[in-house]
Amino acid sequence: IQDIGGPAQPLLSVTNLRKYFGGTNGLFDRAAADPVRAVDGISFQIAKGDTLGVVGESGCGKSTMARLVIRLIEPDEGDVVLDGQKIGSSSGISVRDMRSQVQMVFQDSYASLNPRLPIEDSVAFGPISDGVSKSVADGRAIEILDKVGLDPKIFVRRYPHELSGGQRQRVNIARALALEPRLLILDEAVSALDKSVEAQVLNLLSDLKTQYGLTYLFISHDLNVVRYISDHVMVMYLGQIVEIGPVTTVYEDPKHPYTQALLQSQPTMDPHNRTTEAPISGDPPNPIRPPSGCRFHTRCPMAQPICSQVQPLLTVTADGHRQAACHITAPSQTVDDTKTTA
Ligand code: SF4
Repeated sequence: IQDIGGPAQPLLSVTNLRKYFGGTNGLFDRAAADPVRAVDGISFQIAKGDTLGVVGESGCGKSTMARLVIRLIEPDEGDVVLDGQKIGSSSGISVRDMRSQVQMVFQDSYASLNPRLPIEDSVAFGPISDGVSKSVADGRAIEILDKVGLDPKIFVRRYPHELSGGQRQRVNIARALALEPRLLILDEAVSALDKSVEAQVLNLLSDLKTQYGLTYLFISHDLNVVRYISDHVMVMYLGQIVEIGPVTTVYEDPKHPYTQALLQSQPTMDPHNRTTEAPISGDPPNPIRPPSGCRFHTRCPMAQPICSQVQPLLTVTADGHRQAACHITAPSQTVDDTKTTA
C-alpha cells in the first residue's frame, strides 16, 4: 500500500464539490427550467483508517456525492484529492488509477454481479482486467472469498442465483477488495439485508477494515447502523452539509436543529421516551428551488428572521468539537453577506 502523503495526510479531501442536474438557461429556450441542485458546494476530509458515515433523508445528495467522488458522475465544480493527489488532473492522479485505490459497494447485491459468472470468476474479473495473471487473480479470489466468510471449497463454482442476499453482498465486498483498494465507499451496502445478516456483514466490514488497513465512506439512511460503524458522521440536507464531527459527539449532543430532528425521529424502544409529534414537519423542499438563506428554515422550529435571508456557513461550534451550519450555533453569529440568497 502506498502512502504518498504520510499518515497525517487525509486519504480523501473534497473541496466545494458541486453537481446540478438538468436545467436550461432560458436564453433560447422558452421552457427554461432551473437545475436540480443535487450536491451544492460540499467540502470534507476523511483521515486514513477512519470511517465517515453519511446520513440524511432520501434525496439529500449523499449517493450523488459518492458517485462524484469515484467519478461515476462528472462534477460541475470542485476538487477531489486522494492522499494529496488531485483526481483527474495532469499533475495528480488519473481517474483510472484512482479507481484501483477506491472501490464502491452498492445496495443491490444481485444487480452488481454477472449472473452467468461463477463467483470465483466474478471476484477475479477486476484484477484480470487490471493486468494481473489469471492464476494470481484466481488465487487472490479464493483467499478473499475465505476472508469474507464464504468457504471457497463450497462457494467458488456457485452462481449468484444460488446465494442468499447476505452471501451475494459478501461476494460484492470480495470483488471490491480483490482490487486492493485503500478507500471503500459503501452506499446503503447493508440496507437490503435482514437485521441479523446486516449485523454479520457490519462485523465483517469492521474486521476487514483492520486486516486490510482500509478507510470507509459509509452511506446509510439508518442512523443506528451509521453510529455503530462510523468514527465521524456527516449530516446532509438538500445537497449541503449541515453538521459534521465525531460520531459520539454528534449523536449525544447534536447542535444543528436538523440533526436533532433526525435523531429524534429514530424509533425508540423506551416506552417512557416516545414522541407523539413528528420531529420534522413536512417533506423536504424541492431541490430545484431550495429555500433562500438556510435551506432548513421552512421546517426548522428555531428559525429566526435572518434564517430565510442569509445562508449560514459551516463553522466550528462553540464547544469546538464539530462543525455546523446554523446561525444559532455559530460561535459569534458570523454571517456571510456574500451568500445572501433572498
Ligand atoms: Fe434553523 Fe436558522 Fe439554524 Fe437554519 S440557521 S437550522 S433555520 S435556526
